[in-house]
Amino acid sequence: MFCVECGEPLTLMYVQGEGLVPYCKNCKEYRFPQFATAVSMVVTNRAKDKILLARHKNQDEYILFAGYIKKGETAEKTVAREFKEETNLNTVKAKYMSSRYHEPRNVLMLNFLMIAEDGEMQIDTKELDEVKWFTVEEALENIKKGSTAETFLKNAIAEIKKL
Ligand SMILES: [Zn+2]
Repeated sequence: MFCVECGEPLTLMYVQGEGLVPYCKNCKEYRFPQFATAVSMVVTNRAKDKILLARHKNQDEYILFAGYIKKGETAEKTVAREFKEETNLNTVKAKYMSSRYHEPRNVLMLNFLMIAEDGEMQIDTKELDEVKWFTVEEALENIKKGSTAETFLKNAIAEIKKL
């Protein structure tokens, strides 16, 4: 681990209530680990009987909608912005569900259950090959197995059934 400001190797220092925290002796500052933050969305319709999944360019499997949070943006705003960019539909409502750290991309994923407005979709073909409405059962069958998306989808379906 190296300091993001000066490049000096970091040492671990004990901080009350925090445990061991990387510290830069040169800057005399703690350097908490940095990672990106993104949202992922389980998208349902107003009737809550269908789930919208996306298939990215040159991918075979369906995944959830997702996008990185811009600096200064709230997660709630990212959900609506990303969904609008990818489908041209508005978000009726979004509810935060849970989060999970994704090691390969060094990103903390915040999952939301969101309701999309009904209407004609215009897909962002630069990013997506296809978006498709599935029944709840079909969505579970088609989501990438063993993925974080699958975990989020299962949690969201349990929530939908409670609504
Ligand atoms: Zn430093």
